[in-house]
Amino acid sequence: MPRGRPIPALTLTPDERETLERWTRRPKSAQALAQRARIVLACAAGKSNTMVAAEYRVSQPTVGKWRGRFLRGRLDGLLDEPLLAEYSPDPHPFQRGSIACTGTEFCSLSIVETKNRQVRYSRWLKENVDLPEGIEDFHIHLSGCTASCAQPQIADVSLRGMKTRKDGEPVEALDIGLGGGLGENPNFADWVVQRVPADEVPGAIANLVAGFAEERSEGETFREFVVERDEEELAELCEPEETSYEDPYMHNTKQTWYPYAEEDDLDSSPAPSPADD
Ligand code: SF4
Repeated sequence: MPRGRPIPALTLTPDERETLERWTRRPKSAQALAQRARIVLACAAGKSNTMVAAEYRVSQPTVGKWRGRFLRGRLDGLLDEPLLAEYSPDPHPFQRGSIACTGTEFCSLSIVETKNRQVRYSRWLKENVDLPEGIEDFHIHLSGCTASCAQPQIADVSLRGMKTRKDGEPVEALDIGLGGGLGENPNFADWVVQRVPADEVPGAIANLVAGFAEERSEGETFREFVVERDEEELAELCEPEETSYEDPYMHNTKQTWYPYAEEDDLDSSPAPSPADD
């Protein structure tokens, strides 16, 4: 005969289950949120608070708390903490797949601005580029020089800092590499387009993704798509282009740096402060 107070049954809709499972899988989800998602999934499997607590090495009141919060607020009940209100637990693939090295702000070897540029790139791509059906992850890594601290050679799109001239002016530029990745057939990227002015790189990535969406065979991953093509074809797909993306750091190399914007939209990304500030 069951002892103690009966616990309320917890059932999930298919959408809720899918979201919870996604939160448990993503290495970049907040780990506290991943743990809550696991607890709720275990409760939904019919396990008692005692069993769930033992399984995840947490206290029974902790299990009871998240069971109760989910029952009262559903998925929103698990997001009830200030950090998660500010930083999404489920960022866009272009944002969660972005990595940039230290760059000019703290590294004397860097040729270009990296972190703030990468933030702007990912925001612009999120707003302007649709990833094809079924592509949930897309990694873009940016290193400020050839030393590769952001590990660009194993990203879907590899970027490294360079310089070039545009309209007669020296500007910051990036080489674009493709074909890198880990897993079953690990490989380093080949640098298929070189010295692209930094403000034309988002256009190049947009063209590349559009070409991928148009030409891919059913279910083909981005990496499989790239492996099937030679360097010349890839360079054609990855054609640099000016777009609505604006880059305030084109001529500002090795001058002044600034904190990140608080708001997550393109316009709020801060412009560099003057060198003599
Ligand atoms: S990749 Fe180059 S610029 Fe970036 S942190 Fe490493 S040494 Fe510095």
